[in-house]
Amino acid sequence: MSRKKVVVAGGGAAGLTAAIMAARKGAEVTVLEQNEKPGKKICATGNGKCNLSNTKLPKDAYRGSHPQFVQGALSQFSQQDTRSFFEKMGIYFTDRDGCLYPRSGQAQSVVDVLVLEARSLGVKIKTNEKVTGIRREECWKVYTEGWHYPAEAVILANGSKASAISGSDGSGYLLAEALGHHVIKPLPALTALKCQGKGFSAWAGVRTEGEVTLCIDGKPLYRERGELQLTEYGISGIPVFQISRYAVRALDEKKAVSLNVDFLPEIAVESFPGFLEERRKSCPYKSEKELLLGIFPDKLIKVLTGQKNLTEAVKAFPLKVTGGMSFAQAQVCSGGVDTAEVDCMTMESVLNKGIYFAGELLDIDGMCGGYNLQWAWSSGACAGSHAAEILS
Ligand SMILES: Cc1cc2nc3c(=O)[nH]c(=O)nc-3n(C[C@H](O)[C@H](O)[C@H](O)COP(=O)(O)OP(=O)(O)OC[C@H]3O[C@@H](n4cnc5c(N)ncnc54)[C@H](O)[C@@H]3O)c2cc1C
Repeated sequence: MSRKKVVVAGGGAAGLTAAIMAARKGAEVTVLEQNEKPGKKICATGNGKCNLSNTKLPKDAYRGSHPQFVQGALSQFSQQDTRSFFEKMGIYFTDRDGCLYPRSGQAQSVVDVLVLEARSLGVKIKTNEKVTGIRREECWKVYTEGWHYPAEAVILANGSKASAISGSDGSGYLLAEALGHHVIKPLPALTALKCQGKGFSAWAGVRTEGEVTLCIDGKPLYRERGELQLTEYGISGIPVFQISRYAVRALDEKKAVSLNVDFLPEIAVESFPGFLEERRKSCPYKSEKELLLGIFPDKLIKVLTGQKNLTEAVKAFPLKVTGGMSFAQAQVCSGGVDTAEVDCMTMESVLNKGIYFAGELLDIDGMCGGYNLQWAWSSGACAGSHAAEILS
């Protein structure tokens, strides 16, 4: 029996996993990667250390028009399966509060084990090969600049438009649209937020614990706590990243977007005046600014005490959000190929038999903490396994 030909567009996290799983099922697999080497974005993840999964799975870890779509792939290739998959290929893990990293501290080792495994299974990885079109002829044909590859199944794993890493050019959206798929407008997600105002240079560089509440059209909707980074243009840090996709999408829909920043979430707002009074009693010689010493960094004290109402400044500092950063500065995109047109159990297109999708190209984005790579491994594994099944 001849082997099923599977072509994978994109040699990133989802594409390499899909290729390995398809080859393990006996398919003849070719990966087409437009860069000079595969896995470039993986190398940049987790500050070069690659937070490749998370042992925890919060309810809101995944977002998109149909976030429950992820359950199909995660139920077939879970976080535990990801761990075993990489352990068998030689990755020894370090667990930092649930976030999993290769113990080597090098994201490159994740790429290396994937490429070694793929090659050992006979997967052909063709670099400097940009997919420019996919057409149904006597079988599927995948066109590149100057060549074409016949296939019984094609997996689109082209990633998104996010990050300045070359290859994140959004060409996968065009390939999907040419096949009749609807693409939900891609927008930057996991990004810092720009805010209205001129005085931010006064707090630029400050890192402090706090809680941000995102308000859309005046309604408080999302809240995150952790280390905030105050910047020249507004605000950043993991809590801001986590809520940024909602802020950017609401702005795109012309809604009013604001943040309230609580710089001292450990103390309830009604207790704050009494808390300050106690500090005044124990050190009556201190000015208002000096009373905040030891709680906040100097630069932040200057900004807070410069406001009309100190309680409001500390407990609900108001910021009007004007935008996210560019695609180049965002870690992922929200939006992508509409998951309503993809079978969540196989990742196969419901419009085109033999076309599969995986990874960030789909309208799924995850929180920070290893969830985006987890989605790439799970959806890639699911697409690869099903694409390799012999057509009945
Ligand atoms: C700075 C940064 C840090 C991050 N850190 C983390 C982290 O620690 N943990 C985490 O979970 N997530 C992290 N992410 C997100 C994560 O990297 C992505 O969600 C993930 O890589 C998506 O995998 P993918 O395979 O779908 O896409 P990609 O990894 O982007 O791979 C797509 C591949 O397809 C290729 N391609 C595109 N179009 C074509 C075409 N037409 N023809 C041929 N090839 C094509 C591209 O060159 C690319 O190699 C980070 C992202 C960034 C930018």
